[in-house]
Amino acid sequence: MTLDTVTHFIGGAATASADGATMASVDPTSRTEWAVVSRGSARDVDHAVAAARHAFDTGPWPRMTPAQRSAVLHRLADLLLEHGDELALLDTRDMGRPLSMTRNNDVARSAANLRFFADDALSALDEALPGHPGHHIYTRHEPAGVVAAISPWNFPLMQATWKIAPALAHGNTVVLKPAEQSPASATRLAELAVRAGMPAGVLNVVHGVGPEGAGAALVAHPDVDLITFTGETRTGEAIMRAAATGVRAVSFELGGKGASLIFADADIDRAVAVAADAAFSNAGQICLAGSRVFVQRPVYEQVVEALAKTAAGLRLGDPRDPSTQVGPLSSEEHHAKVTGHLRRAAEEGATLLGGGPRDGWWVAPTVVVDVTADAAICRDEVFGPVLTVHPFDTEEEAVQAANATPYGLSAMVFTNHLARAHRVAGLLRAGNVWVNCFWIRDLRSPFGGFGRSGIGREGGRHSREFFTEAKTVVIDV
Ligand code: NAD
Repeated sequence: MTLDTVTHFIGGAATASADGATMASVDPTSRTEWAVVSRGSARDVDHAVAAARHAFDTGPWPRMTPAQRSAVLHRLADLLLEHGDELALLDTRDMGRPLSMTRNNDVARSAANLRFFADDALSALDEALPGHPGHHIYTRHEPAGVVAAISPWNFPLMQATWKIAPALAHGNTVVLKPAEQSPASATRLAELAVRAGMPAGVLNVVHGVGPEGAGAALVAHPDVDLITFTGETRTGEAIMRAAATGVRAVSFELGGKGASLIFADADIDRAVAVAADAAFSNAGQICLAGSRVFVQRPVYEQVVEALAKTAAGLRLGDPRDPSTQVGPLSSEEHHAKVTGHLRRAAEEGATLLGGGPRDGWWVAPTVVVDVTADAAICRDEVFGPVLTVHPFDTEEEAVQAANATPYGLSAMVFTNHLARAHRVAGLLRAGNVWVNCFWIRDLRSPFGGFGRSGIGREGGRHSREFFTEAKTVVIDV
């Protein structure tokens, strides 16, 4: 079988590694290599950063009007939709997310990311400060420079566009380093950007591994001005150390250990359906996943039973089959991590209701009960289709348990009590709180996490703050 080829994309052209090095992308469904991918080294990173620097310092992109950049980004969004089948399949082959989701959700959302930031940059306003006789004082937001964007594998195209869209809309140039497990759609995105009219060197892609590879070389590169990163908290720590040299700004979207709080006064059928979706969607490989479910005691047994039934009813299968709801986990290493958590939980006395490993790299959705809050499965981000369920009596107890994690990315509250909904939402230490729902996003809202779930916020004007330098101008009049 001939394998596909995925190269870097530097200075407007498909580019092999300077030293010819490659790595494989493995399709988690067949567990075989499907693509040969350029494996970048510091030399390739140098090349890509130089292209981005040149495009920033001398090229038209930062000097275009927001309307001109917006038109290019809208054309790119059109091209993503036109090539939707192809892009969706690339992500599904790389990391096993069901094609129905990559095709119907992720491509559309990626195009929406580009359109949103294209329009947002267009409508952004700056301040002029009145009340200074003799002086005119105003603010400008200017492109910051060369942005390093480092993305994870769990929603490859969606994560890449979420990072590059605001960076590009505000006139920066970018070097994108996608996760080594999911490289293919990023190169295609950069090719389509050139077709949409983006000048060469504005969006560059370098593939390779993180530590001691292209990722580490990119964040250490002195010509990188800003770093936007989504991935594990531990990786964020390493990147922050690298960013300290040269005091480069970072925006971090990191790990999570989300909680769903189900109160006895909630619509229980709905709460169970949404909490199960929040835990099992994308095989639990979502930073926002509600992997801990806290249930008020009067409805605890009922909820546990319903969650186990819902989990058992989810259809595992080939991600290319439109009826598949749970695809394989993204890699052998990740499968070993998730199944290791389940094994350890069982050894520590937890009860696993259904689920567990299946042939290949699938893990069936698993509901874990009889587990204490200090067990590893409750503390660590498992990032698989696994949730733990815990009873509680009072609202205070539920809030305290939900907040008992160093992470703070997401929480879901299920209640029909209006005052409780607002009260609990105010007490939860999480960047995103959904009440009686999950996953609803408006890209104007700040997105990010408390504590070890991140630094800074992206979305709407928050992205503008990060991806631009604010300048105050005072004119003697
Ligand atoms: P990861 O941290 O292992 O890798 C993410 C990216 O960082 C990859 O491109 C990798 O090559 C690169 N990288 C790794 N080490 C590096 C280093 N030393 N220097 C520079 N780059 C380096 O994360 P992952 O396994 O790809 O993704 C899963 C994680 O991402 C989970 O923790 C999840 O919660 C998190 N995540 C967070 C959000 C959010 O919005 N908060 C969204 C999605 C995923």
